[in-house]
Amino acid sequence: MHPQLAADLAALPDLLETTRQHATDFLATLPEAPVVPARPAPEPAPLPEHGTGLRDALRDFTTRWQPGLSASAGPRYLGFVTGGATPAALAGDWLTATVDQNAMSSLDPTGQHLERETVDWLRALFGLSDAHQGALVSGATQSNTVGLAIAREWLGEQRGVSPAEDGVAALGPVRVLSGAPHSSIAKALSVLGLGRSALVTVPTLPDREAVDPAALERALQETDGPCVIIANAGTVNTVDFDDLRALAALRDRYGCWLHIDAAFGAFAALSPQHARLVDGLDLADSLCIDLHKWLNVPYDSAVQFTRRRDLQARVFQNAAAYLGELGADPDLVHLTPENSRRLRALPTWFTLRAYGREGHREIVERCAASAGTLGTAVASLDGLRLLDPVRLNVVCFTLAARPTAERLAALADALAAEAFLTPTVHAGLPALRAAFSNWRTTEEDVQRIAAALEKAVRQLPAD
Ligand SMILES: *Cc1c(COP(=O)(O)O)cnc(C)c1O
Repeated sequence: MHPQLAADLAALPDLLETTRQHATDFLATLPEAPVVPARPAPEPAPLPEHGTGLRDALRDFTTRWQPGLSASAGPRYLGFVTGGATPAALAGDWLTATVDQNAMSSLDPTGQHLERETVDWLRALFGLSDAHQGALVSGATQSNTVGLAIAREWLGEQRGVSPAEDGVAALGPVRVLSGAPHSSIAKALSVLGLGRSALVTVPTLPDREAVDPAALERALQETDGPCVIIANAGTVNTVDFDDLRALAALRDRYGCWLHIDAAFGAFAALSPQHARLVDGLDLADSLCIDLHKWLNVPYDSAVQFTRRRDLQARVFQNAAAYLGELGADPDLVHLTPENSRRLRALPTWFTLRAYGREGHREIVERCAASAGTLGTAVASLDGLRLLDPVRLNVVCFTLAARPTAERLAALADALAAEAFLTPTVHAGLPALRAAFSNWRTTEEDVQRIAAALEKAVRQLPAD
């Protein structure tokens, strides 16, 4: 063994204790650290020829890289849709690396059993029926990709071909209909060989991001044969929801596949006050839900569900002599894009075991209440204009006067130490979004954000 490895092995308990202390110190700075520090990237360093061990690596990381890291795990990082890590999820993630399992095969099955229990818990959390089976993937983009890969195989089944065996050329042209799909859908279509141009954007309801079911029906009437409908349950701009039951009825009438992208919107199911937004979620043929957003497990984690596991295995089967038969409950290696991967379920298992349905419901309700409070503050601020009612956890707003992208960027910059908000364009107007999905955000944080916003608007130059 290399002497430096041997030295670190001998000192492992001490080194891990130092690392634990380092992590604790970092977490303690989160509530007050600049949310996004303005710092240039460090000068590039060459590959070390001779390593000097973990302690030096930790020191180097601390001085060169850590100061530039954002407080994205903290309470006032409201950009994109970003979750933190609950204490139990963090511990689960540490242990994932500690036990370092490759949880893919029944030849060494415990990790796989743990993932199946976790998926069962998630199914119960979101109120899905036993008809859905699932697996964990790295994020909602990958979950959408897996769902659409199954949809692709289903289209093949309707046309008497197997794209998994014969390639997408055997399938012929495909149409994928959606109102306001997330950008990851186009990426998934590109990866799957269906092509970004397969996506047909259907008109939404007036002043909404939810699809107009009547317009969708007209588009279906103009479509030759089976196609794919993508329902959006929680759009990123304004958190709008398609009418899932209406879309499922169209799916039945026109013989289509219904994929639901509920990356963070699915969490509405946890709150009795908001659950009607996702009424019909269970009717999906394939369903995407992110876990590193509102479940507050560390990156990277999402779940995908489907009613057609048989088609999923047809797409993702990894036939090799040593991997065994598929059987009725295929090993994970036959269900997801990876061949090897970490025990991704463990952080999710820990947080569900530690806080249960009730604890996660409280996070969702507190985030929704925070968005409501900030929405009210924005609506009452002279210089700002709320662009849409707050339906769940996002506040989308712009400047009342001259709402240019440049002025909104200046406003976001002025806020960056106190709160991180990301830009968008909504209804043709440049806008900012504040998305609440972190378990640590309190009422006090919301008051701080509102005060910082008021000050930044007041100090914004006129042009
Ligand atoms: C975030 C998001 C995605 C993509 O998720 P990643 O985890 O970043 O891959 C897809 N769809 C919706 C609705 C999202 O909010």
